[in-house]
Amino acid sequence: MEYLALYRKYRPQTFREVIGQQHVTSTLAREVSEGRVAHAYLFAGPRGTGKTTTARVLAKALNCPDRADDGTPCNVCPSCVGITEGSSLDVLELDAASHNSVEDIRDMRVSVATVASVHTSHRVFILDEAQMLSRAAGNALLKTLEEPPPHVHFVLATTDPYKLLDTIRSRSQRFDFHPVDVEELTDHLSKISQLESYQSDPAALQTIARHAQGSVRDALSLLEQVAALGEGVVDPPGVRRAAGTAGFEAVGKLADAMVARDAAGALHLVGSLAAEGVDLRRLLAEAIGFFRGVFLVQYGGDRAFHEELPDVVAEWTRVSGELNPSELIRAIDILGEALIKVREGREERLLVELAFLQLTRPETTTDLASVTSRLERLEARLAGTPLAAGAAARPAEPPASALLPEIEEPAKRAGGPETQSELQADSQAAVMVLDEGTPLAEVSRDLSPEQGDSRAGTHRLHEVWGPLIAGVREAIGSRRWALFREVVPGRLDGNNLILNVPHSFHLEALQSDPVVGPVVATKAGDLLGIDVSVTFRSTDVGEIEAVELELDKDRLFEAPADVADPTALVKELLGAEVVEEIED
Ligand SMILES: [Zn+2]
Repeated sequence: MEYLALYRKYRPQTFREVIGQQHVTSTLAREVSEGRVAHAYLFAGPRGTGKTTTARVLAKALNCPDRADDGTPCNVCPSCVGITEGSSLDVLELDAASHNSVEDIRDMRVSVATVASVHTSHRVFILDEAQMLSRAAGNALLKTLEEPPPHVHFVLATTDPYKLLDTIRSRSQRFDFHPVDVEELTDHLSKISQLESYQSDPAALQTIARHAQGSVRDALSLLEQVAALGEGVVDPPGVRRAAGTAGFEAVGKLADAMVARDAAGALHLVGSLAAEGVDLRRLLAEAIGFFRGVFLVQYGGDRAFHEELPDVVAEWTRVSGELNPSELIRAIDILGEALIKVREGREERLLVELAFLQLTRPETTTDLASVTSRLERLEARLAGTPLAAGAAARPAEPPASALLPEIEEPAKRAGGPETQSELQADSQAAVMVLDEGTPLAEVSRDLSPEQGDSRAGTHRLHEVWGPLIAGVREAIGSRRWALFREVVPGRLDGNNLILNVPHSFHLEALQSDPVVGPVVATKAGDLLGIDVSVTFRSTDVGEIEAVELELDKDRLFEAPADVADPTALVKELLGAEVVEEIED
C-alpha cells in the first residue's frame, strides 16, 4: 500500500474537520448551502493552517450531489472521491511560486473558458502562494476575475496578502486563517497518535504543538518524524532529537545549575545537548524566553500567562523562587549577547559554553550585575535563608556587609600601604566568610569600628543596587544605559554616592550627561530615604580585577574537581570581556 504522509492521510475532508478555522469554515459552509458562493476568494494566513485544504473542501461541497443541508459534502460520491484522490478535473491547483508567468495565467484562462462552455459542474482554481505571481501575471489574472464565467471559482491562497495587487484583493472575498492554538493542536495530535497506535507522552505532544507555531502541517510532520525515529514512541527526548531543540527541560536544568553554581553540570549539559544534535542557537533563544518568563512571573504573578501551558508557568514559578531579579536580567543579557555572536557566525558551541560558565560562575566576570548577584547570594547564604525572589523577600539587615571587597576610590588607593592592608583585610574577610562554618562574630571582629560604619553605608548601597539599576535602566533609555551599565557600585560616603566607572570614555560621557546623574540621584534617594548626590569616578579596571581574582581563588575551592583548570577558564573569560570592551 502506498505510504501517505500523516498530513495527507488525515487531511480534513469536510468543513468541520478543518482545525481552528471555524470562523472561516462555518461561513463558507453557509454560503454553499445558500447558493451564494463568490467567484473569487482570498485565503490569507500562515503556512499549514488549512487554506488549500479548505479550498478543496469548498470544491467538493460545490460539486457533491448528495451534499448535506449544512453544506457538508458526502465524501462517497464519484465527484467527492475524485477530488479526494486528486483525479478530478473540477479542481485545478496551481502553485504560483513555480507558475507565476503570464503564459501560465493565459493557459489557465484558456482552461477557464473551455470549462465554462462545456461543463455544468463547478470548477475551482486554487492558486497557492498567490503573492508570488509576477505583476504581469497578476494583471492577466485580473482580467479573468473581472468577467468571471459562471461555475468558475478562484481561491487565492497566500501567506502575504499585502503583496497582491490591490485590484485583485478588492475583487476577492477575504478570509483570514489563524495559527492554531497549542491546546487545540495538542488535542489533534493526541487523536492522530491514537489512530496511529503511537505510544505518546502528552508532554511530548504539547512540545510538538508549541514547536509547530500554529501550523497543523508542521505539527503532523514533526509527529511523524518523532514516531519514525522512536519506532512508534513519542516522548520528550524524541521530540528534541527530531526538532533539534533543547527543550524546556534543558533550560530548567540550566537554571538549576545557576542556583547550585554548578559550572561542571552546565558544561556537561551543553555537551549532552550537542551530542543529541540540539540546535544550540535555538537553545539560546529558548533560554532567553525562559528567563524572561521567570522574570515576568516575579513581577506579574501568573495572571498574564493564560496563553502559556500550565506546566510551563509552573516551571517558571519554581525557578522564580530560586533566582533573584538581577540574576535573571544578567542571564538574559549574557544569553542575548551570546546569541548575537552566534548569529554573526562565531563558534557556536564555545559561545554557549562560555555563556553557561558565566551564568553558573558569576565570579568569572566583573560586570556590575554579576557583582550584585554574588553579593545577594552570599548575603542570603550568611543569613541562612533560601534566596527568595524580589527585594522584599530578602533579609532586612543581613550581617554580611563585610563580604564584598569595597572598591576603593582612586585617590585613596593611590595612598599606598594603608590601602593595601585594607584590601588585604578585605580579602581575608572574604576568605573567612566563604567558609560556611565560620561564625559571623569572628568576621566582624576583624573589622575596625570605622570600617564597620563605612561599610554599613556601603552595605545599604548594595542592598538597593538591584532595584536602583533596574529603575535607572528603565528611566534613561538604551543609549544612556550603554554608558551606565559599566558602572560599578562604589560606596556611600555620607550623602554622596560614589560610582566607579572603568573606562575614561564612559566616565567623561557620564560626567557631562545632563540626565543620568540626576536620575541616579533621585532613584537612589528614593530607595535610601535620604538626599543623595552622585559622583562618577574613574576606576582602574586592572585593580578591580585583581580584587575579584583574589576572591575567586578562594571561591574556586568550591569548584567541582572535574572542572578543567578553573584559573585558565577565568583568564579566558576575563580576556573575552576585555575584547568585548574594545569593541564598544
Ligand atoms: Zn459527494
